[in-house]
Amino acid sequence: MGKTAISLTLNELEIEGFERIVEVKSEGLHAIIAIHNTKLGPALGGIRAYPYASFERGLNDVLRLAKGMTYKAAVAETGTGGGKSIIFTDYAIPKSEGMLLAFAEAVNTFDGHYICAEDFGMHLMDLATICKRTPYAVGLPTPKSSGDPSRFTAYGGFRGIQAVCKKVWGSDSVAGRTFAIQGLGSVGMRVAYHLFWHGARLIVADINPSSIEMAVSDFGAKVVSPDEILSTQCDVLVPCALGAVINPDTIPHLRCQAIAGLANNQLLSDAEGDHLFQNGILYAPDYVINSAGLLAVCLEIEPEGFDPKTARQHADRIYDLLMKIFTLSEEKRVSTNQIAKEIAEYNLEHEIGKRTLKPVFHHQSPL
Ligand code: NAD
Repeated sequence: MGKTAISLTLNELEIEGFERIVEVKSEGLHAIIAIHNTKLGPALGGIRAYPYASFERGLNDVLRLAKGMTYKAAVAETGTGGGKSIIFTDYAIPKSEGMLLAFAEAVNTFDGHYICAEDFGMHLMDLATICKRTPYAVGLPTPKSSGDPSRFTAYGGFRGIQAVCKKVWGSDSVAGRTFAIQGLGSVGMRVAYHLFWHGARLIVADINPSSIEMAVSDFGAKVVSPDEILSTQCDVLVPCALGAVINPDTIPHLRCQAIAGLANNQLLSDAEGDHLFQNGILYAPDYVINSAGLLAVCLEIEPEGFDPKTARQHADRIYDLLMKIFTLSEEKRVSTNQIAKEIAEYNLEHEIGKRTLKPVFHHQSPL
């Protein structure tokens, strides 16, 4: 079957600490693909489609996210490295098939060193289009694939919240405790579901009225405004929307005993982790508690392909990993995010969890 040629302009950017960064331009497409580190395996990370205000904003975001993936994969021992990509979009213009196929062609230029998946602003059907042109994609609506990763992320998050409860209150039961959830999207709504059916009380905020209505009708949730959620009195704050929500402006107003959310990059910087530690607020490092989606999509590149029971077992490991981090943090008197960072850096240095088998792409390869 013949393929129409797609012309790409690739602009290589040199940035210290990163293995490869490419700005991609094609008709209807402006994107950046960033590979931070492939020491433990091919870089795997989602595609974020967002209307960035400038090229610099997009570049900063993709660099931060790609590095974050290196740490997340190293701690979770997925045998993958850190990478991420962004597509500059415009809310007024829907993503075209041509844009997605050109992006896929750009992914092919990495010869399997970058494997893409869904992230903010991308949908499962966008991935279905992308995989028409590249084998290097996971989280697909195809056999042996895991589909939408957010159901695993939410379940792993729930197990992580149980670990937090065990550490703070001596029991992993969430029943009768109050959880304040910021953001009721793919992962936030699902984590609300797990919490509700295990007896928790919910306080929620979202900018989307229909999500709020659903949380009220399905879970009897109390609603507060997006401006109030971070300072709401609760047992556990569960940020599931934006990054950098824990910062010098918000920290003085926190009224929770623990933070256990699934949003990426919740801390503005490491200093906020230290601050939480000193103030006795237990923080579940975001890239540990939200790693179940990554663990699930990584099963797809194993020879046997994705299996939901194995994905559940992997998500369950988040409980033990967090308990280990909490214990080490207490023993060494350093913040939990510092401990998570040390585990990631140790695994990277000693190549723990390094991939030994070549990734297998089970969906039909177009190459
Ligand atoms: P999503 O887009 O489905 O949901 C985000 C939700 O946050 C939406 O309902 C949106 O209306 C709401 N929101 C936006 N701004 C808000 C504000 N100011 N106050 C309150 N709510 C607000 O995204 P998602 O897939 O659920 O991901 C949420 C977070 O979790 C992101 O940071 C993402 O990177 C992270 N994450 C997601 C996964 C996954 O499997 N989907 C995995 C790891 C990390």
